[in-house]
Amino acid sequence: MESMQRVPKEILNMMDTLLQAGHRVYLVGGCVRDFLLGKTPNDWDLCTSALPEEMVSLFPHTVLTGMKHGTVTVVGAAETAEITTFRKDGDYTDHRRPDTVLFSDTLEEDLARRDFTVNAMAMDRHGKLEDPYGGRQDLQGKLLRCVGNPDRRFQEDALRMFRCLRFAAQLGFTIHPETFAALHRNAPLAAFVAPERIHVELEKTLCAEHPEYGAQMVTGGLLTAFLAENHSVDLTDLTKLPREPRLRWALFCHRLRIAGNLRDTEQFLRQLRLDRQTISSVSAGVALAETGFPETTVGIKQLLSRHGAAGVRCAAACFPESDGLQRVEAVIASDECYELNQLALKGGDLAAMGYRGTEIGAQQRRLLDWVIVHPEENTPQALRQRLEDAKHDGLE
Ligand code: ATP
Ligand code: MG
Repeated sequence: MESMQRVPKEILNMMDTLLQAGHRVYLVGGCVRDFLLGKTPNDWDLCTSALPEEMVSLFPHTVLTGMKHGTVTVVGAAETAEITTFRKDGDYTDHRRPDTVLFSDTLEEDLARRDFTVNAMAMDRHGKLEDPYGGRQDLQGKLLRCVGNPDRRFQEDALRMFRCLRFAAQLGFTIHPETFAALHRNAPLAAFVAPERIHVELEKTLCAEHPEYGAQMVTGGLLTAFLAENHSVDLTDLTKLPREPRLRWALFCHRLRIAGNLRDTEQFLRQLRLDRQTISSVSAGVALAETGFPETTVGIKQLLSRHGAAGVRCAAACFPESDGLQRVEAVIASDECYELNQLALKGGDLAAMGYRGTEIGAQQRRLLDWVIVHPEENTPQALRQRLEDAKHDGLE
């Protein structure tokens, strides 16, 4: 029996509401896994014998998330829960989704459709664990293992192969040898998974505590549709970067390029449906990184002035063993000038001095290049003087 003290009161009240109406209800899936690991779950999932319309009548505030699949979101003051009627899945023909979803009377059937043993546990209102597939033991052994026959489970839904490596990366678990072998055998079915979903799982993997499992998506052939080759890559030092997706994508792409796996970074990120801003910063950063990263503050400012902070941060992320990223952040946080709008003389000041049209921008650019090397000269007086001197030099 687990102590239910760590489960929010509102979630327990929802369980009581269903119990008092004569239904069965359990905490289920990822939240039970995280709870047993002593972590705070991301979200609270419940499963119940109640049908969606019964849930709607029992709770004052519900959102019909997926009535067809039996899911109702119950909204409380501080917590929300996704509550799903016990289900069993029909046949799978597209390697992604069951053709039909059938409501079931039993918790056992509901747990049987779940992907991994550690995700196939349920807990009742009093903390009694229902664990027909040995999830608790696998949790202790830090093992990811499919519920049932792994070949069949990956063939039903190929997304589970990506989830498998993602959970391994997040939890630091080993993949059971039979599950691992089945993952390799069924890798070609990755072609049935939508790129958006691959993007989500890969990004979670890259941002996890053990991002090196991302390398197994590459060598295991799960990304074949997007890469020229599947050579191995070392991703262990992704953990040296902050958990910022852009930075982690940048180092991932850089490593893929060094390994000869990736021809066109921009196209790769576009195919995986990353957002426009991320595509442009990451591909700019990876391109910059091909020629190394500057050692000096002046070099960093020169890069920032030409390519902008987002791209330069991504370039620095490609060298996690050096302190390039910290140096970039320090320059950005300092008041040293590396952008036209930080220059002590504005366009209006140059116009007042008699400069016209494109000459204004050209002079500002010259001043910026000067100030980047001589930061102490970024004052109106010093820059005016510099313009005067240049005029005289021009006359001589
Ligand atoms: P997270 O911490 O990412 O929320 P989670 O385990 O809660 O992890 P969800 O995607 O929220 O993952 O799914 C909730 C539960 O639903 C899982 O724990 C698992 O039991 C089941 N599940 C989700 N997706 C699948 C799938 N593709 N195949 C089988 N079962 C699944
Ligand atoms: Mg979840």
